[in-house]
Amino acid sequence: SREIRLKSRPVGVPTADNFELASVELPPPGDGEIQVKNLYMSVDPYMRGRMTDRKSYVPPFELGKALQGGAVGEVTASNDPDFKVGDIVSSMFGWREAYNANPRALAAAGPMGGIMKLSTHGMPPQAFLGVAGMPGMTAYAGLLRVAALKEGDIVFVSAAAGAVGSVVCQIAKIKGHTVIGSAGGPEKVAFLKEIGVDHVIDYKATPDVTAELAKVAPKGIDVYFENVGGVHLEAALNAARPFGRFALCGMISQYNETGRPTGPANIIQAVGKSLRLEGFIVSNHYDLFPAFVRDMADWINSGKLTWKETVVEGVDRAPEAFIKLFSGENLGKMLVKL
Ligand code: NDP
Repeated sequence: SREIRLKSRPVGVPTADNFELASVELPPPGDGEIQVKNLYMSVDPYMRGRMTDRKSYVPPFELGKALQGGAVGEVTASNDPDFKVGDIVSSMFGWREAYNANPRALAAAGPMGGIMKLSTHGMPPQAFLGVAGMPGMTAYAGLLRVAALKEGDIVFVSAAAGAVGSVVCQIAKIKGHTVIGSAGGPEKVAFLKEIGVDHVIDYKATPDVTAELAKVAPKGIDVYFENVGGVHLEAALNAARPFGRFALCGMISQYNETGRPTGPANIIQAVGKSLRLEGFIVSNHYDLFPAFVRDMADWINSGKLTWKETVVEGVDRAPEAFIKLFSGENLGKMLVKL
């Protein structure tokens, strides 16, 4: 079985040289273990943070070891009565083609990082790495709880055509809001219009986001779902109406920054406008998971919510897929098919 290891810690934008492909012999599963063949793995922006050796909400990846991340796979052998061959499971054993793991030992170690049997409800298993998984859950918790979406809110979303952003846009539309999305390039603009986003800013074509936002949201915005940072946050502060709420989900424009990150220089707007800016980490909101699953199943089954995925094939190409997140080459969820 092949896996991708972290060879060196990236400085700036990661390159192929930071990763290495290795082959390992996978023995039959031991006592209490199952063996899983991964079908899809996820690459996510937060993994960039784990490649740097610093204290954070998740420990850094170790050099010379396989990386970790979300994956869905099929059980191929089992010594655990709760799992049978053919079961579809999700795990944090991404970046490898197959693995052995002890589900009970993992469950005992804590709620995250365990092996979960999936009832796919007719959805493809990889949907549980995107719309029906962590990114979808991030959108749901961030918009509905952190930003406390309420009637009449005008919503602005950055990285709007991505895994999280596209779900935020659609939930806000389902709930009847005016939505403005920012994304890079005509294909993303077209997709956002297709899913009903009222106004789309192509920030690569028109980089003055403050000016563009003033044009499409002359009355201002009440909610900002922040995925990008820098000029996007500055624009949102400029456009915010009094008592606006900003859910700070991520700031991808800074993840590869080696110098001093860009602004915003207008944070003072938060004072006069009585804004609430609140950061959040999705793992602190899993009490909402049952409600998320219920709502999501309902929205998907009734055709109100859809998704896109960009698929790169082969574990050897996982680093390439990961790096492409930072040049925006994904429409919707970036996945690696194994
Ligand atoms: P996406 O699917 O949105 O992929 C990343 C996208 O970010 C790219 O497609 C690109 O889109 C955009 N992007 C990359 N670099 C820049 C840049 N320099 N400036 C502007 N846009 C850029 O990823 P996710 O949906 O998985 O993640 C979106 C955000 O949510 C990230 O910030 C991530 O860290 C955060 N996140 C936070 C979580 C939490 O618990 N707080 C959980 C999950 C995700 P474009 O072409 O439009 O530029």
